[in-house]
Amino acid sequence: MLWTTLGFFVLTAVMIRLHLRDAGATRSSAPAAKPTQPCPRCQAPAAIGSAFCPGCGVPLQTFEVVQARVATGPAPVGGVPKAAVRADMCVGCGTCVAACPEAGAIALVGKLATVNDALCRGHGECVRACPVGAISVTTGQAVNRVRVPLVNANFETNVPGLYIVGELGGRGLIKNAINEGKLAVEHVAAVLSGAEPPDSAEPYVDVAVVGSGPAGLSAGLEAMRRGLSCVVIEQGSLSDTVRKYPRHKLLLAEPVQIPLYGDLWIADASKETLLQVWETIVANTGLPVRTGERVDSVVRDGAFLRVQSAIGSQLARKVVLAVGRRGTPRRLGVSGEELDKVFYDIVEMEAFAGQRVLVVGGGDSAIESVLGLANQPGTTVTLSYRGAAFDRVKPRNQEKLARAIEAGKVTSLLGSTVREIRSDVALLDLNGETTILPNDFVVIRIGGEAPYAMLERLGVRIVEKELSTGAKAG
Ligand SMILES: Cc1cc2nc3c(=O)[nH]c(=O)nc-3n(C[C@H](O)[C@H](O)[C@H](O)COP(=O)(O)OP(=O)(O)OC[C@H]3O[C@@H](n4cnc5c(N)ncnc54)[C@H](O)[C@@H]3O)c2cc1C
Repeated sequence: MLWTTLGFFVLTAVMIRLHLRDAGATRSSAPAAKPTQPCPRCQAPAAIGSAFCPGCGVPLQTFEVVQARVATGPAPVGGVPKAAVRADMCVGCGTCVAACPEAGAIALVGKLATVNDALCRGHGECVRACPVGAISVTTGQAVNRVRVPLVNANFETNVPGLYIVGELGGRGLIKNAINEGKLAVEHVAAVLSGAEPPDSAEPYVDVAVVGSGPAGLSAGLEAMRRGLSCVVIEQGSLSDTVRKYPRHKLLLAEPVQIPLYGDLWIADASKETLLQVWETIVANTGLPVRTGERVDSVVRDGAFLRVQSAIGSQLARKVVLAVGRRGTPRRLGVSGEELDKVFYDIVEMEAFAGQRVLVVGGGDSAIESVLGLANQPGTTVTLSYRGAAFDRVKPRNQEKLARAIEAGKVTSLLGSTVREIRSDVALLDLNGETTILPNDFVVIRIGGEAPYAMLERLGVRIVEKELSTGAKAG
C-alpha cells in the first residue's frame, strides 16, 4: 500500500514537472508579435500587411501611395526594363494588349494580363494605357518611382483646404476612389465642426467637389450625410469617365460602402448598371451636381477657396478635387459632338471591332488609336486631319501608318475638317466640298490638358514616390 501511494506521488510529480516544462516551452516558442504600424486614420496599431485596420476597419491599401516614401536623388539605373502586372488590380480589359507595340509581349490569360518576359521590351505603352494603374515597368529594382501629388493621410494637399482623391492621387479602381472621397470629407467635417462659419456677402458652400466620378460622388454624398452644404461640379455628364468607356463589364469584386446608400457590390455588372445606380442615388438624395461646367482653377479668396470655371465661380470653405487622370480633352466645337458615339479616348479597342470609325487628329495619340483600331477584325478606319502631312508624329508611327494606308486598312483624309456629327454620318469639308462619311463612332484625339498641369497651376506639390515593386500607383 505504502509503495503504491509512493509510486502514485512520484508519478504525479513527474507529470506535473513535464506539464510545466511543456507550458514553458510553449510560451517560449510562441510566435513573436507581428510588427505593427499606426493606422493613418485612427492610429490603432495594425499589423504590417493586414488588409483592414483592427481599430476603425478602414482598408489600409487606401494609404499605400500616401504613405510611400518621397524619392530623393536620381533614380537607380541598371537592369532590363520589363512590364509587371499586379494581379490584384488587373481588371482584364485588354487595353494593354492593344497598346503594346511588341506582338505577343502581353496577352490576356483568362482575365489577367500576363507578360511574356522574352518578348517584352519595356516600352511602357501598357503602363500609360492601363486604366487602373495595374502595370509598371520595372528593372528588377525593389522600388518603382511614381509621380503623384503630395497629400497627407487625410488626402489634403500642401494648399490648405484643397483635397485630392481618386485616380488623380495615384490609385486606380472604383473602390479606392469611393473610399478616398469618403475619408477626405470625413476630415473636412471634423475640421469644420469646430470652426466659426465665415462671414460672406456672397453665397458659399462648405465643400465644392470637382468631378463626378466615383471619388467625387462619394465625397459629395459623404458631405450631405454629415450635414455639410456642397456642390459637385462636372465638366461632362455624370460620371463621365465610366460613361465614356466602351466597356461592357466592370468588376467590383468586394462590397464598397456608399454614403447615404449602403453596400454596393456588383460583380461583372455593365457600366450601364453602375451609371444607373449612380443616377438613382443622385436623384434620391438630391445631391447637387452641376454638369457641363469645366473647372479651370481654384484660388484662395480670404477664408475661402474660389472654384473658377468657364461658366462662373463658386466660393467654398474646402475643395475636393476628384478629376481623375484623363484630363480635359480638347473638343472640336462642332454640332453633334455631345452624341454618345463620340469618344476622346479609347480604352478598349476590341469594342470597335466590325464598326466604321472616324478618327480625328494628326498627332501620335490619333495615329496610335488609328493603328489599334485598324487591327480589329472588320473595322473600317478613316483618319481626318486638317494638316497637309503627319509630320509631328514619331517616325515609328509614321511608318506603321503608311503601311496601314498602303494595305487598305486605313483611309487618310489630309486637309479635311469635321463640320458636323450626326447619328449615322459625319460631315467633312474636304477640298472645298462637303463629304458625307457614314460611320458608327467618332474618336477625337486632338490633345487637351493633362490633369497635373492644372495641379501645378494651383500650386499643388507633385513628387516622386517610391513604391515597392508589389504596388503601383494608378
Ligand atoms: C476600360 C476601363 C475599365 C475599368 N474597369 C474597372 C473595373 O472593372 N473595376 C474598377 O474598380 N475600376 C475599373 N476601372 C477604373 C475606374 O473606372 C477608375 O479607377 C475610376 O473611375 C476613378 O474614379 P475617379 O472618380 O477618381 O475619376 P473618374 O472616374 O475619372 O472621374 C473624374 C471626373 O472628373 C471630371 N473632370 C475632369 N476634369 C474636370 C474639370 N477640370 N472640371 C470638372 N470636371 C472634371 C471627369 O469628366 C470625370 O467625370 C476601369 C477603367 C477603364 C477605363
